[in-house]
Amino acid sequence: MANKTILVLGGGIGGTVVARRLRKLTDPAERIVVVDKESSFCFPPSLLWIMAGTRKPHRVTRDMANFRRLGIEFLQEPVVEIDTKEQKVTTKTQVIGYDRMVVSLGTRLAPEKLEGFEKAAHNIYSVKGALDARDQLMSFRQKSGGKVVILVSSLPYKCPAAPYEAALLSKWVLDRHGITDVAVELYTPEPFPMPVAGKEVGAQVSTLLEENGIKAYFAHQVDSIDPDNRQLTFFPSGGETDTGGTRLVPYDILLGIPPHTPPHGLKGSGLSPDDGFIPVDPETLQTSADNVFAIGDATKLPIADGKMLPKAGVFAEAEGKVVAAEIAAGLKGKPFNARFDGNGQCFLETGKGMAGFASGNFTDSSGPKVSLKQPSTRWHLLKVAFERWWLWRWAP
Ligand SMILES: Cc1cc2nc3c(=O)[nH]c(=O)nc-3n(C[C@H](O)[C@H](O)[C@H](O)COP(=O)(O)OP(=O)(O)OC[C@H]3O[C@@H](n4cnc5c(N)ncnc54)[C@H](O)[C@@H]3O)c2cc1C
Repeated sequence: MANKTILVLGGGIGGTVVARRLRKLTDPAERIVVVDKESSFCFPPSLLWIMAGTRKPHRVTRDMANFRRLGIEFLQEPVVEIDTKEQKVTTKTQVIGYDRMVVSLGTRLAPEKLEGFEKAAHNIYSVKGALDARDQLMSFRQKSGGKVVILVSSLPYKCPAAPYEAALLSKWVLDRHGITDVAVELYTPEPFPMPVAGKEVGAQVSTLLEENGIKAYFAHQVDSIDPDNRQLTFFPSGGETDTGGTRLVPYDILLGIPPHTPPHGLKGSGLSPDDGFIPVDPETLQTSADNVFAIGDATKLPIADGKMLPKAGVFAEAEGKVVAAEIAAGLKGKPFNARFDGNGQCFLETGKGMAGFASGNFTDSSGPKVSLKQPSTRWHLLKVAFERWWLWRWAP
């Protein structure tokens, strides 16, 4: 029988886990090909440490060409078109046929979708934006007073905890440098922090923000940003902090999470009825197309109460393991029993060398069952260890 080609689109968190696990589980003669438009992989949970100045980017970045040393082919090109009927993918210069495919293209950050964002905000979901944010926070040393705003542009966004960590870490950075006259505020369309984790966790995070002197404004959907006047305009929201009409908020430094959209390349593939995020079977991650699986942020996986599974690396990784086992078993004609179980954990960095820890099940039919352990040095040290372990175990 001819050797099979397993195509992995995207070499981020989910893609690297699925490719490396497949390499272990399949016959060395089967081709595993990773396609990614980028040349390097950066571990996203470390981005906010880069912003806080406690991590250098090179420590958490790996060259994707390393896939080749692992017996995995790597092609650095953008995916342009996916044809699930003919089982082939077109990249910038090539057409690659596949026998099995895993789509792990993540979500696209789309700052251009919010007027003023590109000029005004430091995109803390990118390495460059995190570095700029770090420098800007330090610039308050030469000023007197001011305001840092953390802005969630729209829903959904990846990592439910990240904006709250960004606010707490910003405050900690300022305090650490003796800058006590700068306000930190957070604006988000969410009704309360991390709604997918439930009201109790939300209340705990709100308390953490209050204890650190951070004002958070919920149910606030930004309309536009005026970079020249350093001002945000919010839609009238009816939220409890709304003044009634359009709300204008001045800022000195804006740390932004840009709008998210489905990744490029999906259009016309038929994987999603609306060319949006890809619906998948919640347990097997199979898509509507034969031999095609999708994992991670690129998917749309319904959970209880009409919500969607949050976009988080912990799920991309767990889904990647399930799909790798599923594909390997299928190629060998063996039965397959493992299923994605919806369990997830994440650290919530709070500064001062401490972190909280949220964990639970997100796909329970009666709603997510998630709890948050109070911040302590222990959870922070475990996150540091986890970062090292993850880069060693999974990164290319
Ligand atoms: C600041 C921050 C902190 C975070 N912290 C945590 C955390 O503590 N815990 C947690 O669980 N999650 C965390 N996350 C979320 C986590 O990083 C994502 O959920 C995770 O990376 C999703 O994995 P993925 O494989 O689906 O997508 P990604 O890791 O984003 O990978 C997608 C890959 O596809 C490539 N790609 C996209 N489009 C194309 C195309 N057209 N052609 C070719 N290649 C393409 C991209 O270059 C990328 O390499 C954090 C995210 C951020 C930004």
